[in-house]
Amino acid sequence: MAKYLVLFGPPGVGKGTQAERLREELSVAHVATGDLFRDNLKRETELGKLAKSYMDRGALVPDEVTIGMVRARLTEADTQNGVLFDGFPRTVAQAEALDQLLRERGGRIEKVLFINAPEEVLLERLGNRWTCKQCGAVYHTNSKPPKVAGVCDKCGGEVYQRPDDQPAVQKKRIDVYLEQTSPLIEYFDKLGMLTRIDGQQPIETVYAEVVAAIGK
Ligand code: AMP
Repeated sequence: MAKYLVLFGPPGVGKGTQAERLREELSVAHVATGDLFRDNLKRETELGKLAKSYMDRGALVPDEVTIGMVRARLTEADTQNGVLFDGFPRTVAQAEALDQLLRERGGRIEKVLFINAPEEVLLERLGNRWTCKQCGAVYHTNSKPPKVAGVCDKCGGEVYQRPDDQPAVQKKRIDVYLEQTSPLIEYFDKLGMLTRIDGQQPIETVYAEVVAAIGK
């Protein structure tokens, strides 16, 4: 049976870091909507141009656009064994659409891994976060710098500070999360899908709890 998992939590909590490790472990596709938007942006597609106007201000890209992109991604062969969703769903409408999309393929979300941390921790992490332009690997100025400054350890790509990680946009992204995304906590909890994980713990501990939750 295909396995569908969701990595859920506020911006900067470490979803990307956990996803990087998990995708080596699980034989499922990694679908991160933020990465898909950034990839479109890099290729200067119409979707990329549209998404940029929202991303630059820290706002959510409209549901129908995001859902359409995920629907298209799910037609790709690598999603057959299952998917680790990262940064999706971010609204109740997206969660309902995802449920429908998975039903159409005879599947359902198995677990929602909710990683959380206080706002000051998120802001500290976002302010020091560096991302590889090519493969999306994440670094931190103090706790996880790349071996060579500005160069990705994994693929040699350019490591940069995402425009939406600049201080003015960070706060806005957290506010958007609290307003539009956090209602999903109750939504998934009621469905009995939610596992809460303390994102303030060391990366290894968070990873161990994630792995334990998905029974791998
Ligand atoms: P992320 O890389 O997950 O932090 O996403 C970066 C930006 O992409 C967000 O601030 C949104 O503008 C956009 N984005 C990513 N995922 C979604 C989503 N599920 N719904 C709407 N917008 C999204």
